[in-house]
Amino acid sequence: DVLSSNISTQPKDKKKRIGVLTSGGDSPGMNAAVRAIVRVAISRGCDAYAIFEGYEGLVNGGEMIKKFGWADVRGYLSIGGTLIGTARCKSFRERKGRLSAAYNLVKTGIDALIVCGGDGSLTGADVLRSEWPELLDELLKEERITAEEAATYRHLTVVGLVGSIDNDMSSTDITIGAVTSLHRICEAVDSISSTALSHSRAFVVEVMGRNCGWLALMAAVSTGADFVFIPERPPESDDWENEMCEVLKKHRQLGKRKTIIIVAEGAIDKNLNPIRPEYIKKLLTDRMGLDTRVTTLGHTQRGGKPCSFDRNLATLQGVEAVHAVLRATPDTPSPMIGIRENKITCEPLMKAVELTRQVAEAIARKDFKRAMELRDPEFFENYKAYIDTTIVNHNKPSSENQCLRIGIIHIGAPAGGMNPATRAVVRYAINRGHTPVAIYNGFEGLLQDNLRELSWLDVDGWTAKGGSELGTHKMSVADLDTGMIAYQLQKHRINSLLLIGGFEAFSSLVELNHCRDQYPAFCIPMVCLPATISNNVPGTDFSIGSDTSLNAIVESCDAIKQSASASRRRVFVVEVHGGQSGYLAVLAGLAVGATSAYIPEEGVSLKKLQLDISHLLRRYGEDKKGTSSGRLILRNECASSTYTTDVIANIFKSESRGLFDSRTSVLGHVQQGGAPSPTDRIRATRLAVRCVKFLEQHMSHSTSEKIVFPSIYTNIKDSAAVIGINGAQVVFTPVVDLLSETDMKNRKSKKAWWINLKELVEILSKWGYYEVEPEPN
Ligand code: ATP
Repeated sequence: DVLSSNISTQPKDKKKRIGVLTSGGDSPGMNAAVRAIVRVAISRGCDAYAIFEGYEGLVNGGEMIKKFGWADVRGYLSIGGTLIGTARCKSFRERKGRLSAAYNLVKTGIDALIVCGGDGSLTGADVLRSEWPELLDELLKEERITAEEAATYRHLTVVGLVGSIDNDMSSTDITIGAVTSLHRICEAVDSISSTALSHSRAFVVEVMGRNCGWLALMAAVSTGADFVFIPERPPESDDWENEMCEVLKKHRQLGKRKTIIIVAEGAIDKNLNPIRPEYIKKLLTDRMGLDTRVTTLGHTQRGGKPCSFDRNLATLQGVEAVHAVLRATPDTPSPMIGIRENKITCEPLMKAVELTRQVAEAIARKDFKRAMELRDPEFFENYKAYIDTTIVNHNKPSSENQCLRIGIIHIGAPAGGMNPATRAVVRYAINRGHTPVAIYNGFEGLLQDNLRELSWLDVDGWTAKGGSELGTHKMSVADLDTGMIAYQLQKHRINSLLLIGGFEAFSSLVELNHCRDQYPAFCIPMVCLPATISNNVPGTDFSIGSDTSLNAIVESCDAIKQSASASRRRVFVVEVHGGQSGYLAVLAGLAVGATSAYIPEEGVSLKKLQLDISHLLRRYGEDKKGTSSGRLILRNECASSTYTTDVIANIFKSESRGLFDSRTSVLGHVQQGGAPSPTDRIRATRLAVRCVKFLEQHMSHSTSEKIVFPSIYTNIKDSAAVIGINGAQVVFTPVVDLLSETDMKNRKSKKAWWINLKELVEILSKWGYYEVEPEPN
């Protein structure tokens, strides 16, 4: 539990002094981590110190170590890089440098150090901790510190956070900054794709990653690149050059006008010879006659403004880092804060560093199997999904009878990821010898015979397309003539069905399943792939589209906050979508540093408004110089029927005693986002492949001899399921089993794993949440 409220606030006399530094290469989200660490430390009654320029600041001390107050980290969330600076510090690698660091820590009274950086930085932190007693003895001997100081600071607590765009650290599924970097890469490759398409060119794009192909692989999945080279998985063939050209030729023969190849900077062949972009360019030019260009993305990949995911990841890990400090005993090994299966973790730091080293070692001894195993569990699955959805490989099942005619239908409001999911289904299905059939405009379209078989090329470029290429319709099965739907499925020989959409898709599946006794046409494998910005579908922690939406909201809120800050003393009440689910309001609230999030799960009360008004009056009242920033309140559209967005803004205005002003902003359909975010593209691809596998599996379990049509007959409950992400696992839950956890009236799951984060929004934006005496602004 990220809030760990069992950890009490520190008594004043035993106050911890927590130093934070960022080190190694900068990564987006480091500032969010610093903000969370500083604010939670203060909230828990500790002192927070920023150590500037990484270990340089620790070694040099003086002005480079500064006590930070609540307001010092204001505005940090939306800024890329690291505001407290970073450096590669040679002197810290030497004992003399670390002795000086120890001296500065003792003299400042810092007894806990949180380091955010890559494996080098974390190793450095651990070296400091392991040498600490000897360093103190030496300082005492040299009479640079007193015996009392040596006794007081006998133990140094060290906690690591992984800030790295490469996602190259073991023991964590993802590192702070990697997703933002992926955003930048995808934007660049999407742009390159337009010019490649226009000129029918080939592009070889080099991305960062010396020993880690995460960025390259995920960029390839996200952009549907034709080929990818990563260090952990060199091409198996000795003649990979020819193999690659054959794949690219096939793609061109199918009618593709563009060719994109992504190369990690550490790409190698199986004999460890580097594979360089220029060499690939030469191959494409000489062997295929393609007009080929090389683009090296370079430092744009450092990311800049962090995406919503990195802000929240860094925030949650920052919170946990402070809690780890407060929990630590002299005997606990230094922990590294990570994330696994969507849960913040705390693991021995040196074990993680050691495992990370093993990847490089495995690659060096050509043990690529081991290198892949050391990556997180999704890595290999994504690699397989990439190959199976991108490279044409007609792998027809042995018997024609095993072929599926998969109906694909989009239901409900559009969501980012619907098109990438459809693309992946189509490509994977074709590779497996099945026939994907698009049902246009939802079930209405089905009733109007609006169906068409989709080809491999039809879905080219859909990874980057937002909205719904098939067209979507709000009407669920319950709104229509079920008998006619059965008839139409039968008429078009649809023997398996994939419903992509939000709660309407879910409730359609409930209805189809319910009517199986009446209509054999529904006795086919059916699966619902949750796709909605609201993230309210039962059976999954995440629906595709919700990440795209969060990023769209965060971008808009950043702009609104900028305007609010420029006008000084302005509070914006921003209305966000989500229906009866407060997911978007809470997660976006956390990512933009909102003062509060008003959500339907809690409702809005006069008491709550009063508390927020008191907070705003206090904050703006303290701001004598008029330099205070703007503030945001995020209100979900259904949070309250009485306290509408306008009413709340008006109440704020009339209660403001002239200290602040208020405005509203209703974000509306902007929240569906434009192009799907990389996270949604990756999730969509992974889940879509699993959906086809699910349909295949239930086809083979069917008892087709029972009935003439459908050719597949299955009415076991497992064959009508919702696919979901549970932690990092993909799960299928029979739709009937989800009914008990479904709030049909409010159209959402009764489970909301994110609900505790609502409190964190306030902890991080409001002084005195734990009733610690506030310090001046
Ligand atoms: P990135 O992933 O961006 O390379 P990193 O943290 O691995 O980040 P490094 O340059 O390896 O980056 O390390 C950053 C700093 O950490 C170094 O400049 C040095 O000050 C310190 N450091 C690294 N390794 C050690 C070590 N073995 N002992 C002491 N200090 C170290």
